[in-house]
Amino acid sequence: MTENTHAVTKPLDAIFFDIDDTLFSTSVFADKARRGAIDAMIRAGLRADRAEALRELDEIIAEFSSNYSGHFDKVLDRLGPESTEGHNRAVIVAAGVVAYHSTKWRELKVYDDVYEVLKWLASTSPLRGIISAGITIKQAEKLVRLEVLEFLTPSAIFFTDQVGFSKPNPKLYRRVLQRMKLSPGRCLYVGDNPTHDIDPCNREGWSTVRIRRSGRHAAEEGATKPTYEIRDFFELRRILQSDFGVS
Ligand SMILES: [Mg+2]
Repeated sequence: MTENTHAVTKPLDAIFFDIDDTLFSTSVFADKARRGAIDAMIRAGLRADRAEALRELDEIIAEFSSNYSGHFDKVLDRLGPESTEGHNRAVIVAAGVVAYHSTKWRELKVYDDVYEVLKWLASTSPLRGIISAGITIKQAEKLVRLEVLEFLTPSAIFFTDQVGFSKPNPKLYRRVLQRMKLSPGRCLYVGDNPTHDIDPCNREGWSTVRIRRSGRHAAEEGATKPTYEIRDFFELRRILQSDFGVS
């Protein structure tokens, strides 16, 4: 045994990851996509102050949720008929939708350290899964666009809508482990949300890693402390090597 190998390492059968603000910066991505959409709408004929239109869009997302489908129509409703005078409003909405989707193609990328560490993990023995909340097809599409599927264990990808429990219901995490025939004491969950990712997993007996890098939960505190707190995935790799003997 070499000097830097711990005498006792914790057993680890699987690592599960959250997607948003864990694998990529959802907040930065969404901001860029929204700005790109408003700019495209203005180019297509929308008569509005850019800052005002962006403010309305942000409010609409807050009021109607990010999964509501008529965001850009609502922006036009709020700005009033004079904002689209002389133009077909459907064309202006379409310009926003197209710009939003092209930003998606361009900007939806994992952090560099996430890519490198997932690639490394794929060469090690623990299973690599996902437990993600949100609309199934949207979350699945993110995994495809993020280009990390090849590093994940296909049978270990779970979306809350399909499992039938959402975060932070601890039954979500319990059910995933039942399906995978895994025990919580041998599993690790990595997420950014203290109350939806870390607290329920702690209560279920998992080891937990809170990634605190960006996003709307970065300043929040949960009821319990994560086993580890990291800033990037290189720190995760060091923990996996030193405390879990992953190599
Ligand atoms: Mg998240």
